[in-house]
Amino acid sequence: MEKPVQITRLPKSEFYETVFDLYEKTPAVPSQIPLSRLSKLVSERVITDKSVPIPDCIPCGACCIFGLVIPINRREPEPLQKYLEITLDGADDLVIERVLERDKSDGRCTNLEGVIGEKIGCKVYPDRPQICRDFDAGSDRCFGYRRMYGIDPPLSDAELAEAENKLSRVPEKVKIRGIEIKLESTSVMFNRGATDIGKQLVEVRTLKIVAHMNDGEVKDIHTYDPAKESWYEHELEGFTWDEAKAIIEQRKRGLAIT
Ligand code: SF4
Ligand code: SF4
Repeated sequence: MEKPVQITRLPKSEFYETVFDLYEKTPAVPSQIPLSRLSKLVSERVITDKSVPIPDCIPCGACCIFGLVIPINRREPEPLQKYLEITLDGADDLVIERVLERDKSDGRCTNLEGVIGEKIGCKVYPDRPQICRDFDAGSDRCFGYRRMYGIDPPLSDAELAEAENKLSRVPEKVKIRGIEIKLESTSVMFNRGATDIGKQLVEVRTLKIVAHMNDGEVKDIHTYDPAKESWYEHELEGFTWDEAKAIIEQRKRGLAIT
């Protein structure tokens, strides 16, 4: 018999208060190189030499403790038994994100078992979210996390200089580093055709998606009617402006699955 799925809804501000609390409880050495510069894919290694073997995840777990917000995308309808839906503040019917739960005492993913740096396991490994599947052990970012949590030693000054030199030769694309979904407007429409008097006044809301680019620019990328479209905040993150616009157009035509 399938276990029931538990979904808890939280307003966005309440959710991020818990994230800030967890952030204080999960000490990690700051990354020597900004993590946004380190690819999650082995095929895109820049600072890790090709000869360096792929590390074993079992005695590690650094990436599962680092990510305080692990989003669940819409290709994963109900694969997990327990997750949070984040709603717009003041509108608990408008879901703008869904994420894995974190352990409130130490911030780790509630699906993680074992001891970081000794022996870990993932309780939902066959059904783990896409974001976990898309992260390569052995990528530059993987080694970044390992150094932050003391699994691997930090880069020496010479290694750091060499890594920065290699990264400087790779042009950094301007990408969306974060998305905010906000209420743009609320109005009331009179539905003359409604036969039920209780349905003659219809509330019309418009939501706005604001993109925070990694070069510091902040700009509106899309407005939508939540009765017709739905978006999660993570869905456009990591894309360039043009890629994100193409995804929005596809979604509007009923094609995009992000
Ligand atoms: S940081 Fe790398 S080695 Fe460690 S668990 Fe994650 S993918 Fe595996
Ligand atoms: S779902 Fe599994 S793989 Fe993903 S963060 Fe949690 S423990 Fe790690």
